[in-house]
Order: sequence, then C-alpha cells, then structure tokens
Amino acid sequence: MTHDPTRRPENLIRSDLRGFEPYEPIAPLEVLSGRSGIPVEKLIKLDGNENPYGCSPRVRRALADYSYYHIYPDPLHGELQEPLERYVGVGHKYIVAGSGSDELIDLVLRVFLEPGDKVINCVPTFGMYPFSTAVCGGRTVAVPRDDSYAVDVAGVKAAIDERTKVIFIASPNNPTGNVTPPNAILELVDTGVIVVVDEAYYEFSRQTFAPLVPEYPNLIVLRSFSKWAGLGGLRAGYGIFTTEIAELIRGIKIPYNVNIAAMIAVKESLTDIDYLRDRVKAIIAERERLSMMLKEQGVLMPLPSEANFILCRVAGGDALEIKQGLEKKGIFIRYFDTPLLRNMLRISVGKPEHTDVLVEALAKWEGG
Ligand SMILES: *Cc1c(COP(=O)(O)O)cnc(C)c1O
Repeated sequence: MTHDPTRRPENLIRSDLRGFEPYEPIAPLEVLSGRSGIPVEKLIKLDGNENPYGCSPRVRRALADYSYYHIYPDPLHGELQEPLERYVGVGHKYIVAGSGSDELIDLVLRVFLEPGDKVINCVPTFGMYPFSTAVCGGRTVAVPRDDSYAVDVAGVKAAIDERTKVIFIASPNNPTGNVTPPNAILELVDTGVIVVVDEAYYEFSRQTFAPLVPEYPNLIVLRSFSKWAGLGGLRAGYGIFTTEIAELIRGIKIPYNVNIAAMIAVKESLTDIDYLRDRVKAIIAERERLSMMLKEQGVLMPLPSEANFILCRVAGGDALEIKQGLEKKGIFIRYFDTPLLRNMLRISVGKPEHTDVLVEALAKWEGG
C-alpha cells in the first residue's frame, strides 16, 4: 500500500475527542509549595477532601516490610475478597476493586454507553462524571439540584428518554455535602435506568445502599479508601454490582488495575478499622467546630455537611480574593465560580490546629 498523505494522525483522532476539555485536577503538594514559597510540610491543604491524619500506621509498616514488589499482583485481588466482604456486608461476588473509585466510574460507563447515549448528572456535583461520560463517547444531561441542593427527582425522571443509560448520585454529594434520602434514590431505581450511588464519603454519613444491591439489578454503589482511610495517593476504591455486571467488569478491566501497594494498604486498613473510625469521629467533631466558628465569624456562611468538607457562601467579600489571600499564607481551599456555585468555597476539614489558623487568617475579611 502506498502512503496516503491525507492519513495524518490528527485526522485519525476520534472526532468527538478533538478539542476535548481536560479534567482540572487539584494541584499536587510540590506545585502548591512552589506557588506559595512555603515548604511542603508547612502547607495546610484543605482543597482535596484528603484525610489530615494520613493512613493507618499499619499501612506504612506493611508497605516497608513487603518483599515481592517485583511480582505482578493478583488481577482478581483474591486477598481482598474476604476483608471487603466482611466490611461491606455483601458477598465478594458482588464486589470489584479498582484504582480509586474514579476507575470504577469509567468502567461502569464503558459497560453501558454506546456513542451518543445519555448520562444524567445532578449538578452541582463531582466533575469526574461528565469527564468520563465524554471520554466514553456519551452525552451528559445536567439536571440542577434545588435551592438546598436536593436532587430534583421529578426533574431527573422527566429528563429520562430511550437513550438514557445511567444516573449518577453522589451521596453525600461533592461539593455540597448533603445526602440524598433513601426514598428519592429508590424512586430513581424504579425507573429501571442504571443508578450509581457514589458513596465516597459513606464513612462520614453512615447512610448506605450497599446491602440493597443484590435486590436491585440496576443499582450500583461505589466506595473509596481515599477519604476515610487516607489512601488517596495509593488509589483504592471498589464497586458493588449485581453479579452479572461485576463479572463483566472483572472481564473488561485491565488485569493489574489494583497495584500491590494499594492492595496491602487496603488489607491493613481493614485490620485497623477502630483506629480509622476514631479519626473519622475526630474529623466529624472538627467539622462541627469549624462550622460553628465560621458562623460566629461571619465571613463565610457554611452549609450543613455530612462529609469531611464544608461548602461555604461568601457573606460579603469575593471568594477568589479570599482563596488567593489564604494561599499566600499556605492555606489551600477549593474555589468555585460556576453558575450554580457562584462565589463559593469548599473547605476540607483538617486537624483542630488547621481550623484555628484558617479562622485567624479569615479575620482579615471580617466586616468586609
Ligand atoms: C473523591 C471522590 C471520588 C474519588 O475517589 P477515588 O477513590 O480517590 O478515585 C469519587 N467520588 C466522589 C464524589 C469524590 O468526591
């Protein structure tokens, strides 16, 4: 075959990926340190909903002691089956682990979407849903939440048509912090569309749909070790699916999606649940203290939260100016300026000393 000069790589790229909008991730520690001129260990990082206490000390020890990093991991992560089954309370045939729950969002969409199929997103919510939908060739249909950020169940049902395959509900929702009540989720499950309940913050809210998965074939629950167990950097999450979907996902995922370090970390975390739950309790207590201090101060107006972060409106000032002002002091929070999150800030709950430094820094805007 002769070389065809019109066959240029750029013309071979999928047309729907030309001009693709990349996901905007939070900046890594080194970048934040460079931007603020403050050393990494002095940064107060409250922008990623990470666990300020880090992982269980057992995880560090087990990772240091392990001798077989040169051997490929078990593609079916057999060693996690029993501990996950015990932790979740459903059989391991329903559970598949992944490289963070982010990977499971992508895998679910790969399973269900044909080009042009629709995914309903209850906005404002987690940015990975529209991102992975687009990567998988689907279309996102955004149904706004109401004034208190509750899911508009009637609106979602009205948006369903023959191309609708999946509805995502993060509960607690990121960045609004509220849970979706069981009756609302079950009403959506009744439509027959695949309902993905993203429980990345389940350990903070304690409301779960996991035990219902075996009863409802179109219900999927996603969970993560990033937030409650402090394993964000190691990438470990899992999904709970009916057995048919679980089997298909095991079949289409890349074999070594959960690496050895993540597997060890999950196993050790699940032997140290009491320790980790104590940290979760401390974070919840700190969330309530931070919320009260913010209300008293009056610069930021915190919304109620059942997660490890608080969404805040800015009372009088400008959210971007506050975010940038805090950055100069080495305090990093998340800033939003989308139509549904105008002039708002999301603050991850840190240790008590982080709250104190933050509130003191915010005093500059008092009466502003
Ligand atoms: C943080 C977050 C995730 C991602 O979890 P990983 O396991 O780290 O991929 C998923 N969903 C929501 C709503 C999140 O906020």
